[in-house]
Amino acid sequence: MNQRLTVFFSCNITLFLVLLLISIGIRYPVLNRFALLEQSIMEQQLSRVAAGLTDELNRLDAKARSESTWNEMYNYIINRNPDFYSDNYSYAGLAPAFIDLFGILDQQGNPIHLDWLNNKKQQLETLTKQESNTLLNNQTLSWLHNTHGKTLSASRNLGFLMTQRGVLLLATRPILTSNGHGPSRGTIIVGRFLNTSVLEQFERYSNVKLSLLKATDNKVPQTLLTQQLNNKVDNKGNQLIFQSLPVVKVINHEFIEGYINLIDITGVRVQVLSVVAPRLGYLEGESVINKFTISLFIVGLLLGTAISLLLDNLIRNNQRIKQINQELTKLANIDGLTLIPNRRSFDNHFQQEWHRAIQAQHPLSLMLCDVDYFKAYNDTYGHQAGDECLRQLARVISCVTTDIDDLVARYGGEEFAVILPNKDISISMIVAENMLQSVQKLQLPHAKSSISPYVSLSIGLASIIPTPETEPATLIEQSDLALYTAKSQGRNQIVYFGNGCNGCNG
Ligand code: GH3
Ligand code: MG
Ligand code: MG
Repeated sequence: MNQRLTVFFSCNITLFLVLLLISIGIRYPVLNRFALLEQSIMEQQLSRVAAGLTDELNRLDAKARSESTWNEMYNYIINRNPDFYSDNYSYAGLAPAFIDLFGILDQQGNPIHLDWLNNKKQQLETLTKQESNTLLNNQTLSWLHNTHGKTLSASRNLGFLMTQRGVLLLATRPILTSNGHGPSRGTIIVGRFLNTSVLEQFERYSNVKLSLLKATDNKVPQTLLTQQLNNKVDNKGNQLIFQSLPVVKVINHEFIEGYINLIDITGVRVQVLSVVAPRLGYLEGESVINKFTISLFIVGLLLGTAISLLLDNLIRNNQRIKQINQELTKLANIDGLTLIPNRRSFDNHFQQEWHRAIQAQHPLSLMLCDVDYFKAYNDTYGHQAGDECLRQLARVISCVTTDIDDLVARYGGEEFAVILPNKDISISMIVAENMLQSVQKLQLPHAKSSISPYVSLSIGLASIIPTPETEPATLIEQSDLALYTAKSQGRNQIVYFGNGCNGCNG
């Protein structure tokens, strides 16, 4: 894979992983918040439905109260005027109150009248003996009698009752005078079935679906069923209709369901009211977070591409700079004419080998070579030919040395220097002689040389085992002195710095 693709993929994969971590880090806490929010909204929905049912019970209570606090009703219990009931209560008269059950009970709770409103036949229909016995069992009677003897305002009695025909919303009131005085002479009982038409009444005002479930329905969560159904009275003495806490359950991705226990007047669970609502808030939240994640990844991809292009550019520039630096270093150390190491390179190499020789205590030899009568050569053959001559000399001199540590450099105008590390004077002498011979073999004609018909070299050689106290210039001076001697002794020869000639021998 080429460099640009590698940078592109590594940038984008890194960024992708970072963004993935960020989006996971954001997604789940935010969705959890939405889930909590929808749960609390569902609890509010359930409270609203509960409040609606309580309102409905209050409406039934208003009807029971208006019938029970009335002198004529109060007297009727005693005088039992046979026309009283038919004169005052008929299907047509009771139906507008939206009730399904109306009854007048005596002080003991025996029914004087107890009728269903038959909406199909549009008439009152007396409860069968068995029906009224089931309805008015001991527990119901004790419930409706618990208001007897109480003040008018405290005589409210509301609740649910499970019957064979379904769940009844019930309201009862003790029968008092029109002024609300007692003693109570009986009870008025008003009821309405909690059927689909009542539930639809609540559904009309909200975006939810209501239904009544049996406690045995396997949809009903266990947590709702295991709730304790005690405390039938709140701390103000009001009877509680919904004593248990709502339970909310997510059905699927689109719907959420809330449940609440409906408690009987006898304190048992009659049924479970369920509210199913669409998860609008959650779905909206999820769609927002999905859009956010997609935007994040698009921005990430663009950013990754931009970063990778920048990085790629930087890397390329860096590589180019490195390459240029290498070339510059090479150029800075190479002599432009002869293409062998230059004086700068010689200085560095010499310093380096000097220190190595001190440490290793091995000899370091230095040769200084100077072309004989080169000024005359230039004058005779021209400067260009002089340049070419220097190039050829550099080539043959360089070929003589073989060790990797040896260095042949152009020292100055027509002077060459040869560094020979770890070679004593005798080995260095051999190298110098080879050098002289190979130059002679070149046979570059030099008509103005007084020593040879060809171009020749004079070589000054010195060798030393340096100590930390020795100055590096010493070796150069000695070689220079040897070269000077070679020149003065007639040129085209090697002189080494030693005991002879002012310290030099040819
Ligand atoms: P000697 O035998 O004493 O060394 O005499 P010489 O003429 O070689 O010495 P001198 O120092 O008088 O002259 C050196 C000449 O080398 C002078 C100069 O023009 C020539 N020279 C130096 N550098 C170059 C170069 O790069 N190209 C050419 N063509 N000539 C050069
Ligand atoms: Mg010279
Ligand atoms: Mg010269």
